Amino acid sequence: MTVPAHRIIFHVDMDSFYASVEVREHPEYAGRPVIVGADPKGGLGRGVVSTCSYEARKFGIHSAMPISHAYQRCPDAVFIRPRFDLYERASRAVMRILRSYSPLVEQVSIDEAYLDMSHLPDFTTAREKAGEIKEEIREKEGLACSIGIAPGRTLAKIASDHSKPDGLLVVTPDETAPFLARLPVEKIPGIGKKSARILHDMGITTIGELAVADIQVLIARFGRSAVVMRDLARGIDRTGIRVRAISRSISRELTFDQDTREVAVLQGILDRMAEDLAEILSHEGMMARTVTIKIRYQGFDTRTKSRTIEKPRGDLPAIRTTARQLFSELYDGRLVRLIGLKLSALQTSDREQTRIDEFVDQKILTGSDTV
Ligand SMILES: [Mg+2]
Repeated sequence: MTVPAHRIIFHVDMDSFYASVEVREHPEYAGRPVIVGADPKGGLGRGVVSTCSYEARKFGIHSAMPISHAYQRCPDAVFIRPRFDLYERASRAVMRILRSYSPLVEQVSIDEAYLDMSHLPDFTTAREKAGEIKEEIREKEGLACSIGIAPGRTLAKIASDHSKPDGLLVVTPDETAPFLARLPVEKIPGIGKKSARILHDMGITTIGELAVADIQVLIARFGRSAVVMRDLARGIDRTGIRVRAISRSISRELTFDQDTREVAVLQGILDRMAEDLAEILSHEGMMARTVTIKIRYQGFDTRTKSRTIEKPRGDLPAIRTTARQLFSELYDGRLVRLIGLKLSALQTSDREQTRIDEFVDQKILTGSDTV
């Protein structure tokens, strides 16, 4: 066995995750456009699309699109309110499978993770392993994913995106430059609409063109990040996975059909969210150290407030009481559009319990969406 000269990074991304879990639970939805998100209310609903199936994407529907627009495009689709407990359970099962393939797993969202697979001898073996991972997830969880394999984190993500749905794409160090050359510059994570427009104005539309662009000209427009950008375009990716303990979190949010300032209603919803989250914690044998509430007022003015304790708690009374306290401290009487509750800094339960009065104020963030 030879030691690989390069890192081997997998990017595993579940395909249309929420929608796929719903189809798994309701086989009769298979092959139909499935849209998970807010209630469309015959085209008058508020809120957005969370995820939609590939069948729905054919109608031009995509996540974050207003649900009313999705309804206009495809009123006959299956519209489903999100059931996050279900998705979180599926996510945990998938992540458990991934961790059995590598001790170095970086989970970046509910349905996405990077694996450092550099212990494998070569990219051919890596492809076989990825096939096994896909098969195990399909067999045990009934879900499809796409896997990108590359010598770096960013390239692995580009590869998995490119292979979707149900894809598997290996980009070896020798293949990176030719693979990238044809792709539009927007495929590089971090090149958003604004940067893309600047590049287009410079006559650069493909990654291949970016790879041979004059570095001084790029630096003049983008500063130091131009170096990383052009390195990526040339297939040079030094990004490894970040295995610092990810502070996992679980949360609930609700957007109201009509803005409300009824305190009893708001508190009742927070109580229900607390029950829901406490149940997940006990089911998973987890405890939380930080409780955060989020209130979004009219005009998208969003406020959050958190409280952290030294020792974690997992019981409902503690979570509910803290949520209520945070609410009474944060709420200022205005009309509320959205309310949310989040538990973070999760860890496995131990027998030590902490009293509620050990919670201390952590931070008050204003004006930004941080939950
Ligand atoms: Mg995904």
